[in-house]
Amino acid sequence: MMPSHSLRRFIFLSLTLCALIACSISPTSLPATIPATLTRVPASRPTSAPVLPTPMLTLPTPGKDLRQSAGAPVRQVSLRADLDYFAHRVRVQETISWPNRTGVALPHLAFDVLAARRPGVFTLTSGSVPGDPSATFTLNGAMLKIVLSKPLAADAVAVIAIEYTLDLPPIPRDADGTTGTLGWSVHQMNLGDWFPAVSAYRAGWAAERNPPHVVGETTAPEAVDITLDLGVRNAPDGLQVIASAPAEKVDGRYRFGLTGARSFALSLGTDYEITQATTASGILVRSAYFRQHAAAGRAALQTAAAALDVYAARFGPYHHRQLSLVEADFSDGMEYSGFYFLGNEYYAEYDGTPRNYLTAIAAHEVAHQWWYDEVGNDQAHEPWLDEALCIYSELVYYQATHPDLVDWWWDFRVTRFKPGGWVNSSVYDFAAFRPYVNAVYLRGALFLRDLRAAMGDAAFLDFLRRYRAAQSGRVATSNDFWSLLETYNVPNLARLRAAYFTPLPSPARTPIVQQSRTAPDPEQSSACTRPPDDTTRVQVDGHTVNARTLWMLKLAQRLYGGPGCILCVVQGSYAPGLKESFGTHDSGGAVDISIRNPANLDQVLWDEAPKMAVAMRRAGFAAWYRPTGMLGPDSGAHIHAIAIGDPELSEAARRQLDGPEGYFRGLDGVPPEYKGPHPDPHGGPVICPWMIEMGYKDLR
Ligand SMILES: [Zn+2]
Repeated sequence: MMPSHSLRRFIFLSLTLCALIACSISPTSLPATIPATLTRVPASRPTSAPVLPTPMLTLPTPGKDLRQSAGAPVRQVSLRADLDYFAHRVRVQETISWPNRTGVALPHLAFDVLAARRPGVFTLTSGSVPGDPSATFTLNGAMLKIVLSKPLAADAVAVIAIEYTLDLPPIPRDADGTTGTLGWSVHQMNLGDWFPAVSAYRAGWAAERNPPHVVGETTAPEAVDITLDLGVRNAPDGLQVIASAPAEKVDGRYRFGLTGARSFALSLGTDYEITQATTASGILVRSAYFRQHAAAGRAALQTAAAALDVYAARFGPYHHRQLSLVEADFSDGMEYSGFYFLGNEYYAEYDGTPRNYLTAIAAHEVAHQWWYDEVGNDQAHEPWLDEALCIYSELVYYQATHPDLVDWWWDFRVTRFKPGGWVNSSVYDFAAFRPYVNAVYLRGALFLRDLRAAMGDAAFLDFLRRYRAAQSGRVATSNDFWSLLETYNVPNLARLRAAYFTPLPSPARTPIVQQSRTAPDPEQSSACTRPPDDTTRVQVDGHTVNARTLWMLKLAQRLYGGPGCILCVVQGSYAPGLKESFGTHDSGGAVDISIRNPANLDQVLWDEAPKMAVAMRRAGFAAWYRPTGMLGPDSGAHIHAIAIGDPELSEAARRQLDGPEGYFRGLDGVPPEYKGPHPDPHGGPVICPWMIEMGYKDLR
């Protein structure tokens, strides 16, 4: 996002799978040719897409041991979708073939269902696992959990068949990359993040660990081979379909295939003008825009095509055979495999020069085809791995195409925002977009600038190429980045790293499900580490809490790392009868935290309070900033927190977790007598695997 394999084989997995699960796709054979374009295209350089041979792939038998199969099976998603354009409704049959390469037996699978972020959009109508009739399907917020009747053995293949309906919402007027990518406007119908997607498994499923958040992307998608068979009815004449891959039209339906992809997006409409170009390396680039923005739409096409060549020459070849960009009825940009949206505001502001967001973001989103799509990452916990590289890639684009604009770019994109913060922050460290961008993107760009200066251009580019090649098709981690970098002779690397990165081990590369009930020293622990089960009473700042709560406060203080003081308790636990706490502090696990500057108690750290609350959430509290007067005329500003899973919670405290006003419902715990509840001001719960083990779950 911006503030924001070529088609090796065209696999009609759907056909093969349907033989297994009896869905209703007629087994027609493929036509010999694929039309170059779907619609009238005033192409700048008309081209004919190459037609590749299309060998059929045989699906492994469900549950069959991979070691007995010839060649490693790939992860496959087969989609059959029927869109009623007028009704804004899509009915989908999806089949996922997922070989278990985790090395461990898995009792359940978890998929990201971003379409379920908004109520009323995603309705699961059926789910089945061939050979396992008692498998259960549960949608928890934006996560689909499939519990198998017996664990999926390491190296076995799970086949999951689900059916669902999408009732596309109107795109709101102030839409962004979260709310505009799935929905319709008078100009377009967008299908981004529309199907349940396979998430990475690393000591637990990313889909369970990464709830949607107000800031940034949160998925860690696996690379999959995708086929889509799309039927459209009740559409006006002249409907245009722009997608992550070229379409072929068979019996009135559109068919697509994309290999090694993290996603598959489409945009449909009747108002697009489409121009296209072919890059020096033979990639077809298509730009779809609204007629009043024709100059901007053509400029975005030229930028995208040039950026593809610049990046291919420096990072390695583009791994699909087509790239589409679509003017979006929402702000910012959003990347998908082989496709991106670019906000209409950038087109409207386009000034005929390369000195603007249209050009910079068009180049940024192209870079996501390397950093996000070819090399995947956990976008919630390690967003710098794609975003820092993508914003820095903007500079690489300008250096190659407009070297006179390099100083302009640094000022326009980075230095004027006076960036601060740790590059390796997680999206959950932020409650607002600008501080997130400043830390992860902008300081990330500064880090890469300094790294390149330390290494020299040739070694820096060699490193990026080798990192891309080594991580192609994988979900890379920070550890992968640093281990490869350490094989280069980088002067002062440790000092450079310490200037931009917290020493905090990233949860994505640390096993975060603790097997032992005695948790390690909080100084040695990461976010989502399960706290110890120790309810010994201890004193903090003259207030009583238990040892478990104190451990969590210490972890939160370290995760936070800012000027505020999370150990500055102003109200402890085991304090019955406090009127404005309505019983939540009567027993264990409850604390109120000061937001005053410990170095100057006259100063209230207003801007720090949300960051402190988010750090406390990562340490296992349900924590909310309570502004002055929220709970009565005498209540001062503070952070109220309940230690999730504390064995001695009062009834009122427990109610703030999963009761009607609870944290896990995306609410703020304020009961109706105090005019609550309100939506969670910090973007929804942080749900750690140990909470799920204890029986908590996303109730939104
Ligand atoms: Zn981005």
